[in-house]
Amino acid sequence: MSNKPGKYYWIPASLDTFGRGVSLSVKYRGKYDTSKHMQLKDDGALRTIELADRTIYVTRGYTKPYEQRPAPHDVDETLDLDISTNPHLLKALGLDFIMVNASAISDRYSFVDYSRENVDSPHILADSGGYQLTIGTEDWLEPNAIIEKQNRVCDIGVVLDIPIKPYLHKFFLARAARVQRYNNRITRKKKAPHVQLMNAFHGVDLPTLRRFREAVEAENESIDRCAIGGLLTQDLFTTCINILGVLLEGRKYKQYHLLGISGLDKTLLLAYMAAIGLAPVITADSSKHIQLGINKKFSVADTFAYAIDLGDKNKGVNNYTPIPCSCNACAMVKYMKAYTLRGMDMLTTYHNLIVHNQQVQVMNELMQQPRQEIMSYLAAMMKTTNMDKLKAVSQCLDIIDYAAHHSVDKAVVKFSHVLEHAKYSRQTGGLFHSGDQLSPEWIKEGQRYHRILKSYEEYHGLPSPKAPF
Ligand SMILES: [Zn+2]
Repeated sequence: MSNKPGKYYWIPASLDTFGRGVSLSVKYRGKYDTSKHMQLKDDGALRTIELADRTIYVTRGYTKPYEQRPAPHDVDETLDLDISTNPHLLKALGLDFIMVNASAISDRYSFVDYSRENVDSPHILADSGGYQLTIGTEDWLEPNAIIEKQNRVCDIGVVLDIPIKPYLHKFFLARAARVQRYNNRITRKKKAPHVQLMNAFHGVDLPTLRRFREAVEAENESIDRCAIGGLLTQDLFTTCINILGVLLEGRKYKQYHLLGISGLDKTLLLAYMAAIGLAPVITADSSKHIQLGINKKFSVADTFAYAIDLGDKNKGVNNYTPIPCSCNACAMVKYMKAYTLRGMDMLTTYHNLIVHNQQVQVMNELMQQPRQEIMSYLAAMMKTTNMDKLKAVSQCLDIIDYAAHHSVDKAVVKFSHVLEHAKYSRQTGGLFHSGDQLSPEWIKEGQRYHRILKSYEEYHGLPSPKAPF
């Protein structure tokens, strides 16, 4: 292979929900007073934690969070964790991209105008809100309104897609592709010059993904970034093959983005694909740092996929156990126990974000090493006895190498024994319906998709097919 090595970037999602007015301040006592035993004073927007050698102040949320922050001259250090008041925060975190949700922006930022001017350096990728259509929090998003918001907040905007639940693909995917193509016409016309568009491809297997891609690529030559959806619940092998299909076939893109991919094993494959030069930039977004944070899980820097459960009382965490991390938040908080207090999940989330981003850097460097090195390092870092998982990663790396030298179709034939074996987890419908019989819930969901697509078809002046059921 002669391709120049690319790079994999992790994109933290929902960073705009990171919290209004979140800040951390510390005042050092200068002496050790053991009568202070992790005393917590909770005044709503302001939490004060007394420790033997320091007082920690944490602010968050509420209507006027900034008024609650301690005055700078009353404390020794302050960390402003609100991206709308600290434009340098993301740069300091070493992030190259962040993701925001365009469909949610106007409501959430009614009192402080969130705009890309408030953020220093990283690319802001804005989701269109298609995901909100899938999960049912929205039934209609106006294409003009979405691109107007994207023009205001982002550098890269995902096109307005209608992601269909996999079990309903055969009924609606072609219609969804057509609606997306028509949405794109509006978006391309209305986008501001600084905004670059990202097309979205859907499909649970290679043939579907190819057809969908062909349908939405047809008239969108000016779009030079793309996103791949629907891989969140797919097994490792299917994910690997589908991504390879998009990367190695057809038109080449500047950036390939994986929507909502978080698992360590999948992430490793992306880092590897970038390292061997299959794409200049591969990105994936996830909200793993937040999920862990709200579940009181504190990510540990020197292992992949391992977190300390702060809710677990039996971990030997006493008031003065030092935190095994020196990130700028942990350095100020210093004692593990402080993170176990109510309302500290924002800081745990922030720490998790730093650690996760560092792990991605490590992973990128690791992928430059020979295969043997990669595997033994992974075995150590994953601290796992689950050799099947490691074996699956190793097999996928073989598939990637083979597909890169030959073709994806040839790799599918060559590795058919491996792919067949993994097929059980691809039968996504197996648990919910027998044969071709759809469950009542699925039919209801299908009726909702028909309604959504029909309103877009009307909007674009397209005829709607009859409801399939
Ligand atoms: Zn930390």
